[in-house]
Amino acid sequence: MVTRIVIIGGGPAGNTCATYAARLGAEVVLVERDVIGGAAHLWDCIPSKAMIGTGGAVSFLNRISGMGLDDVEPQVENESLKSRVDYIENRLGSSTTDLLMSQRVRLLTGEARMVGPHQVEVVTGSTSEVLEADFVVLATGSRPRIPDWAEPDGTRVLTTRHAYPPPEMPEQLVVIGSGVTGVEFVHMFNSFGAQVTLIVSRQQVLPGKDPEVAAVLEETFISRGVKLFIGARANNVEVIGDHVQVFCDDGRTAIGSHALLAIGSVPNSDGLGLEQVGIKTENGYVVVDHNLRSNLPHVYAAGDLSGKLPLSSVAAMQGRKIAEHAMGLHKGPHRHVDYDKAASAIFTEPEIADVGLAEADAFAEGRKVRVTKVPFSVSAKALINNDTRGFVKIISDPATGVVLGGSIVGRHAAELISVLALAVNASLTVTDIANSLMVHPSLSELLTDAAE
Ligand SMILES: Cc1cc2nc3c(=O)[nH]c(=O)nc-3n(C[C@H](O)[C@H](O)[C@H](O)COP(=O)(O)OP(=O)(O)OC[C@H]3O[C@@H](n4cnc5c(N)ncnc54)[C@H](O)[C@@H]3O)c2cc1C
Repeated sequence: MVTRIVIIGGGPAGNTCATYAARLGAEVVLVERDVIGGAAHLWDCIPSKAMIGTGGAVSFLNRISGMGLDDVEPQVENESLKSRVDYIENRLGSSTTDLLMSQRVRLLTGEARMVGPHQVEVVTGSTSEVLEADFVVLATGSRPRIPDWAEPDGTRVLTTRHAYPPPEMPEQLVVIGSGVTGVEFVHMFNSFGAQVTLIVSRQQVLPGKDPEVAAVLEETFISRGVKLFIGARANNVEVIGDHVQVFCDDGRTAIGSHALLAIGSVPNSDGLGLEQVGIKTENGYVVVDHNLRSNLPHVYAAGDLSGKLPLSSVAAMQGRKIAEHAMGLHKGPHRHVDYDKAASAIFTEPEIADVGLAEADAFAEGRKVRVTKVPFSVSAKALINNDTRGFVKIISDPATGVVLGGSIVGRHAAELISVLALAVNASLTVTDIANSLMVHPSLSELLTDAAE
């Protein structure tokens, strides 16, 4: 008998699960109320990186003196920027849709909710349909957290969803929140010429990240004229005429033409019928086991809704693992998602990427590790690129040489980290990396240097 799988949410978790499950022989229905590709394509990863790509080009052009070229003064055009973001989103949306259709996934547009343990109701306009499922996958993602002290209006007070680009490019922007999203938006709008104030509630930007990494970013921000309100927690935002005031609990006030909230996200679990069918949640996130099953074993949750690591790459991997599990593949060799080995990146300038064990965590745990570090300034390619900021750091086991983690700060860090990600996930040693013949001149040589 054919296995019927209904998936709610067409983001990276849902669409990857659908493709794999269909490939493995399931009859799959994917329900999406908005666009295939999900918030990842529409609001998060893709538009933010498309804008940062343009911002990066602007700051690169601002740094070309010293490369044998005349200075160029780039002008950012809001309309062209918007078309570029739309074009990239549409291209990715249609290639994902084509892939799903090629696997014969049935795509339904509508709002879905569970109406029984094996039943999902889909409402499309004025019509509704109840689907029967052997397995249900909940992959409805998350949305920006809005505090009760701020009212985003999409004009002066923005969330990340109003920023691609906003109706008017901010001249003076106050970014509230200094996690990954906050610092990426600081970099983005500062590249477009905005004066930025960043409200940092803790003692460093990127709380929880390696302090050495955070320090590089702070120094860069300061050198670019970004004002940092360290140790200040925003508690009120007021729009007065054509400017915005952000009040902080330490008495400081930041003034700008716009404010942007980047203070985390909340899960899209309301209205999904979870309580009615008895699915356990914690703070709105579905409680799952290591196979991503909820307390109802035939109902899985993936992506941001699972309350694990909120990254597209993780969401997609979870979707794949669920497809394998539902289709019985876990009975053979099967690896669970290991969140501690997920590579991640922050698309600032310089770029920041890391994977596995951090030096600060090893230190806090009293764990003996070997740390080797090489600055970008020793690299011929970094010199050629006219950008010698940053470093490569590798954390390994002193007894076996197995690579346990690493951080890279610098140009193309998000690409370079793949070597360390592979090493961490495949338990390769520093000698394996050091013995690899890399291209010369290339930034990859920094990895072999740091591994020696
Ligand atoms: C500004 C920003 C930038 C980011 N950049 C990156 C990045 O560079 N790299 C990275 O790895 N991660 C990034 N992330 C995180 C990443 O976007 C999320 O982890 C990822 O989108 C989660 O995927 P998902 O499939 O769980 O959900 P989503 O992508 O949120 O998709 C969920 C889908 O479910 C649909 N849905 C919800 N409820 C229903 C319903 N009842 N019926 C039908 N459909 C429904 C929604 O419309 C949505 O399309 C970023 C996040 C933000 C906020």
